[in-house]
Amino acid sequence: MPLRILIIIILFPLFFHAQVNSECGNKMTASELQANYARIQSLPTLLPHDTCLNRELSLVFHIVLDSMGNPGVTITQIDTCVAKLNRVWKPICISFKKCSLNYVPDYNYNQWRNIYDEPTFSSNYYVDKTIDIVLVDTILLPAGAAGYADKMGHIVLSKSSVTKVVPIHEMGHLFGLPHTFETAAGNELVKRTNCYSSGDGFCDTEADPYPSGKVPGAHCDFQPGPKDANNDYYTPPLDNYMTYFKPCVCRFTQEQYNFMALTFILFGTQLH
Ligand SMILES: [Zn+2]
Repeated sequence: MPLRILIIIILFPLFFHAQVNSECGNKMTASELQANYARIQSLPTLLPHDTCLNRELSLVFHIVLDSMGNPGVTITQIDTCVAKLNRVWKPICISFKKCSLNYVPDYNYNQWRNIYDEPTFSSNYYVDKTIDIVLVDTILLPAGAAGYADKMGHIVLSKSSVTKVVPIHEMGHLFGLPHTFETAAGNELVKRTNCYSSGDGFCDTEADPYPSGKVPGAHCDFQPGPKDANNDYYTPPLDNYMTYFKPCVCRFTQEQYNFMALTFILFGTQLH
């Protein structure tokens, strides 16, 4: 067999693996988004800007060991992750504390399938009133996910994503945020005249046409060109933690912070 073909055969699975485990397993339903739209529109009357929650939340990391008993992630990496979360959530005065590390001996959980593994794992390991973060080798279901989260519940992450931006993105979901491109009522317009009733429901996040324009390797993985119904060019929020255009993300917007504060007040005050 020619060497070139042999190399392609060997490298293809590695390439494929890297591609499929780079996204997120969260997807809001239309009814969840519609509920968000209503809450976001009433935000100004519910909550002052820059609400300071002044709460410290406990994180419990569940690290699934491999068949040799190796964790596959270091304490330094986890501490770095917690430090990043603390920096990003500071504007609403939420801080996170690494409460405990739980090493899970059952290596079968390293090939994580949410529909099969969630029931047994949660009953055996989750700690009440904390944010549980499960670290596994690979998430097989939801397919292609580097992580996922449920609202004011728990997070599942692939170990390779711990030092990346994924934990921040998933914590955003835990605090109720949708992706910037999700919509329950048609595409958000570039001029954002329908921003509170379509798209992610926020008016200070630009309309996001993902997957249109997604070109890995282009600036922030976005190639300009997609247009909206008015023939205006999309300029998506390439810097926002909740977009799928990567790797230039670095911020949440004011409305996203306000909404996260509201989500905590409505659904998360049991956490400690
Ligand atoms: Zn996501």
